[in-house]
Amino acid sequence: MKLIDGKQVAAQVIEECKQEIAQLKEQGIAPGLAVVLVGDDPASKVYVGSKVRKCAELGLHSEKIELPADATHEEVLAVVERLNADEKIHGILVQSPPPPQIDEDAIVRAIDPAKDVDGFHPVNVAKLALEDATGFVPCTPAGCMRLLKEAGIETSGAEAVVIGRSMIVGKPMALLLMGKDSNATVTVAHSRTKDLAEVCRRADIVVAAIGRPNFVTADMVKDGATVIDVGINRVEDASAPRGYRIVGDVDFDAVSPKCAAITPVPGGVGPMTIAMLISNTIKAAKLAQ
Ligand code: NDP
Repeated sequence: MKLIDGKQVAAQVIEECKQEIAQLKEQGIAPGLAVVLVGDDPASKVYVGSKVRKCAELGLHSEKIELPADATHEEVLAVVERLNADEKIHGILVQSPPPPQIDEDAIVRAIDPAKDVDGFHPVNVAKLALEDATGFVPCTPAGCMRLLKEAGIETSGAEAVVIGRSMIVGKPMALLLMGKDSNATVTVAHSRTKDLAEVCRRADIVVAAIGRPNFVTADMVKDGATVIDVGINRVEDASAPRGYRIVGDVDFDAVSPKCAAITPVPGGVGPMTIAMLISNTIKAAKLAQ
């Protein structure tokens, strides 16, 4: 069984980004990312903090815009519009989930598609479906694809089962796997799928993006399959320093002995997401010239 080391691949992506940043600097271009945080959700604060820190570490221009939990939809919209017009900013993301008075879909649609480094704007969703390389691919599935590539997993002609159909992970992942660069035969499973275990057992590649701890069990995975675990779930653990630990959507201990390759949680898909965000920001800066 091969453990796919997301930290190592993410470090490699970051190294490539550093070289591109240096080249852009020679042309007088500094890629810039703006991260908008509305409210004080603790997990969102952590995510935003690490994105901004990574930008600083790489010498990227970044802006963190924090709005109070009672900010109005119009106030958030005004921030997005200001950032759309700001030439120093090439990438904009509004951390999810915003407070309930904010219409998240409308905010995503207000972001200039050329600055939508999360890849959630309908224009970028369409570009992904059209396999138009000028679009932005959502960071997490883009990271999963890179992990498969670096691990040397053959996708062409492979049976892939993606569990989950969210716009953030499952659906774009399915599009990427079935695209002409990958050529997998893709099944997308979700909560209404009948006989999920049977469907999963067909898979050479299983991508789990469900949000339920240890959901994928050994009986759902065929011998020699590759498993990509996107899940990030907190489970209580009195023996852990913080009283909880992070587990994936896959029962790693039971599933991993059967696999040809598998991503751990933490240390698998997670580290790839920020790396791909930086990569998308650089792409946005290049396309803006
Ligand atoms: P969503 O809640 O948006 O989607 C979950 C999907 O799982 C849905 O399509 C749902 O089906 C499906 N599902 C739920 N229960 C079952 C079931 N019993 N059987 C089959 N399918 C089921 O989650 P996300 O896609 O946003 O995230 C998925 C996981 O990935 C989470 O753990 C999240 O924390 C993690 N994540 C990790 C990231 C990273 O950087 N590594 C980034 C983003 C997410 P239905 O549509 O029918 O409801």
